Amino acid sequence: MDAHNIPITDLFDASEICKAIYNYSAEAIVIVDDRGKIVHANPIALKVFQYSLSELTGQSIEFLIPKEYRKNHHNHVSNYQQDAHPRSMGSGLELYALRKDESKFAVSISLSPATIRDRTYTVALVIDITEQKDAKEKLRKHNQELENRVNERTKELAQLVNNLERANKELRQAEEEVRVALTKEKELNELKSRFVSMASHEFRTPLSTILTSLTLLEKYTEKTNQEKGDKHFGRIRSNVKHLTNLLNDFLSIDKLQEGKTELNLVDVDIVELLTDLREELEQFKKSEQVIHLDIPHSLTMHSDSNILKNILLNLGSNAIKYSPDGKTIYLKVWTDSNDVFFEVKDEGIGIPEEDQVHLFERFFRAANSTNITGTGLGLNIVKHYVELLSGTISFSSIYQKGSTFTIKFSLN
Ligand code: ADP
Repeated sequence: MDAHNIPITDLFDASEICKAIYNYSAEAIVIVDDRGKIVHANPIALKVFQYSLSELTGQSIEFLIPKEYRKNHHNHVSNYQQDAHPRSMGSGLELYALRKDESKFAVSISLSPATIRDRTYTVALVIDITEQKDAKEKLRKHNQELENRVNERTKELAQLVNNLERANKELRQAEEEVRVALTKEKELNELKSRFVSMASHEFRTPLSTILTSLTLLEKYTEKTNQEKGDKHFGRIRSNVKHLTNLLNDFLSIDKLQEGKTELNLVDVDIVELLTDLREELEQFKKSEQVIHLDIPHSLTMHSDSNILKNILLNLGSNAIKYSPDGKTIYLKVWTDSNDVFFEVKDEGIGIPEEDQVHLFERFFRAANSTNITGTGLGLNIVKHYVELLSGTISFSSIYQKGSTFTIKFSLN
């Protein structure tokens, strides 16, 4: 027989043990009869509830329960009576007891049935759990605080991440701006160095022509050879004009690049503008070339006349430059209900198909135009000007047959 199975009565007198537990236990014990009346309570119960034994005995057990919990208690008791066995009361619920001074305190109660001299009693073990509850509440509050702190910290971190993301975005934006500025600077430098190399090429030929013509002129004046003299005056004029045009192109590009081109919008008389344009083109067209004008009787549009003229002059000079002698250059203007169209058409060398995609790029020159002087700047300027006037430009070209450039502006 091991020590756990030795009957307690073999070691101690059972009634002595009961007495000791009853009198000295730290838990309050209240004994209730089958009618729910208190028949006895141990000393600690009297102390806890602040009653004398005589004040308690005979009272209904509800005497020790706060009013608001009495109804519930009634249900607990009838449940218990239907199946009386040792167990804790109202497990999972908060139970409260009432002291004599009417203060409430949290309790846990375990109930055990007991039959004493043929009568059924209930022994209620009442434990004051106020401290336990307080500790639990403290722990709950502490946990809540921790949770709040974690939430706050999480929020702060989220904010921090947000700020970092924003800073990162700003940094990327700044980087992009620097990149764009650098690209612009690089483009500008490229433009300058291209200008230097092109200027040395492009200026050399006309300047030496001018020089030769001047030398010859000196000779011809001596001999008063009027006709030959005139020929050289013409050459000088056309070469100086070429150089002026070249410099004008560079100035236009520079202004466009810096965004300094200012618009001067007025009501432009298109008929007058086209007539002037034709006169100017007549001056440097090739021999036998014909300039054909097809324009409405009268037309005015709101635009910048200098820029518009520059555009058409550029396209017109190209048509002349890239067409052989004897061909016709067509200048046509027409409108529909919303738009005005300008067309410059030639029967010249055309543009090879593979070069057409690059046509408006700065410095681009088609493969079939290398023997003809040019800078590859004119169409780039034209495109910028057209866009500045809120228009669009398109072209069609057949190699060795001719090209047509069309510009469209809204009449409004
Ligand atoms: P440039 O005439 O000074 O070379 P542009 O920018 O005006 O420069 O023209 C770019 C290129 O487009 C020309 O070099 C030429 O190859 C081609 N081009 C422009 N206009 C015509 C045209 N009417 N006919 C044939 N080719 C053209």
